Amino acid sequence: MSESTGSEGRRFPAPEQLAASANVGPDVYAEAEADRLAFWATQARRLTWAQEWDEVLDWTNPPFAKWFVGGKLNVAYNCLDRHVEAGHGDQVAYHWEGEPGDTRTLTYAQLTEDVCRAANALLELGIQAGDRVAIYMPMIPETIVAMLACARIGAVHMVVFGGFSADALASRITDAGAVLVITSDGGYRRGAPSALKPAVDDALSRTEGVRNVLVVKRTEQDVEWTEGRDLWWHDVVDRQSPQHTPEAFDAEHPLYIMYTSGTTAKPKGILHTSGGYLTQVAYSHWATFDLEPDTDVYWTAADVGWVTGHSYIVYGPLANRATSVMYEGTPETPHRGRWFELIEKYRVSILYTAPTVIRTFMKWGEDIPAGFDLSSLRVLGSVGEPINPEAWLWYHRNIGGERCPIVDTWWQTETGAHMITPLPGVTSLKPGSAQTPFPGIAAKVVDDEGNELGDDATGLLVLTAPWPAMLRTIWGDDDRYVDTYWSRFGREVYFAGDGAKKDADGDIWLLGRVDDVMNVSGHRISTTEVESSLVAHPAVAEAAVVGASDPTTGQGIVAFVILRGSATDSGDDLVQQLRTHVSKDIGPIAKPRQIMVVQELPKTRSGKIMRRLLRDVAENREMGDVTTLTDSSVMNLIKDKLPASS
Ligand code: ATP
Ligand code: MG
Repeated sequence: MSESTGSEGRRFPAPEQLAASANVGPDVYAEAEADRLAFWATQARRLTWAQEWDEVLDWTNPPFAKWFVGGKLNVAYNCLDRHVEAGHGDQVAYHWEGEPGDTRTLTYAQLTEDVCRAANALLELGIQAGDRVAIYMPMIPETIVAMLACARIGAVHMVVFGGFSADALASRITDAGAVLVITSDGGYRRGAPSALKPAVDDALSRTEGVRNVLVVKRTEQDVEWTEGRDLWWHDVVDRQSPQHTPEAFDAEHPLYIMYTSGTTAKPKGILHTSGGYLTQVAYSHWATFDLEPDTDVYWTAADVGWVTGHSYIVYGPLANRATSVMYEGTPETPHRGRWFELIEKYRVSILYTAPTVIRTFMKWGEDIPAGFDLSSLRVLGSVGEPINPEAWLWYHRNIGGERCPIVDTWWQTETGAHMITPLPGVTSLKPGSAQTPFPGIAAKVVDDEGNELGDDATGLLVLTAPWPAMLRTIWGDDDRYVDTYWSRFGREVYFAGDGAKKDADGDIWLLGRVDDVMNVSGHRISTTEVESSLVAHPAVAEAAVVGASDPTTGQGIVAFVILRGSATDSGDDLVQQLRTHVSKDIGPIAKPRQIMVVQELPKTRSGKIMRRLLRDVAENREMGDVTTLTDSSVMNLIKDKLPASS
């Protein structure tokens, strides 16, 4: 096993003080194991129920689960009113910072009133429980207000990333059958206003069923106006009563639809419901980050239009009465130290972000974080992709000051909440591994026949018991739900679509998408391992690896690398050096056939590399669906580099 990717690396035991005082101690695993349903029932009691459930789980018709059967609650009440009623109305819910530097502070009392006004406005517009509402917004407080207003009246929100095209928006509006769109004139990105309303107008010219568009004024850009359909948020919402009595909905009432990021295929409308979802996001947010609501300042630095934003910017933190930071813009605006400046300013104590950002910071160099006071941080998190050990160590040293545990959280849009992750006061950390199934979660690594694997053998990750925050179906397509996730090993085993291995200590390593695993001369090689090996080379900041069809070996490894700011050489010598490096590190079989130095990689808005597009390029094929790409011009730059496609 290699230095850069392997299991022989250093361990990082839980800091003593944290181990002694953490919310969750080592006994939690045995407790959950002893009676999984009783464990989740205990966690559900963290919430306030209008009516308690009769049965924790109904799994008589797998894979269609019902959690907390017969229970009733209001999700928005649990996130807002109950904290105000308990005397915490003056506590800050969000320190919001706009990209241009404007700020807003929202207390729990203010947010509750804002949400009530918005809920009353939605009712006035004729929105009823069960109706779908599309939200296409920048990272501003009204986005959260809109989501919670929907939850409050039982409408189903469907948030679409503000960066997605009119096409992507139109197909989601049609698929979900939305009747209202909430948007804004625009938002700030990279130092300039970026318009949103034109994409809505364009999308609505191609869809039916949307009655109204509610528009928040943010950038003051000119907007086209369709009389009778378009309404200003401030005209409709501001004049409403700040009081609204929440209705209790069934635990299985739909809460939201979220389309997956489309890294591997056409996006799927993942449906989440109320009681089980809120239970698991609240508990996991409290346990995984060791959240202390009275003293922590929590920051999920991600977009709310991604599931991470739903579960860990909105629902988990609010259910737990956290004080959060929310930031509108990009990390390099107006300078590359912006995030660190925010950490210093708000004394952020818990930071949760994606490996892609860490690798970008690595590329920019450690002098930037070194210029700020980051001593308030105590726990760090990672999500979205496997974090390369090299990036983990950099994060730990340069942002965490070597004192903060890093929780590498594996989960998906479909799982709703953390599923495999270390716990900061318990786990002895291994850089690059997500390690341990969360308490109350059952995960295994199996071979193609479903037999459990260990000892570093590469296999498939499966979840062998239902969990409260699980998806309930794919919107409007129960068959696709069963086929995609619950047919490979029978109707009671969830197939995650990720490759994984379990090491001798029983720790789980995620190895990338099953669709991406390469087969070179009959050997299965993980994209993640080759990428981590490349990133461990001092010249490389980021790497993406794909298997391209090869006449002699079946597949050949093609790598795309971005160099670090400090790298001087970018020519043939370096490419040869990198090939040799991987060959020595992992083995000759993993030596890339071809390595291309590029400036950018194709990524989804949530920062994930779209390997399927690189594979299309490497195999000189028509490119597949690019609607979820941040910037589609990146692909042209890369294609120009490739001799095969010129
Ligand atoms: P699609 O399913 O449409 O292809 P997607 O899988 O990229 O899109 P998400 O649900 O946002 O959409 O991503 C979940 C996936 O992200 C996981 O299946 C896994 O591949 C990857 N992932 C997330 N967190 C981690 C992590 N901590 N370690 C390794 N992989 C992770
Ligand atoms: Mg997926």
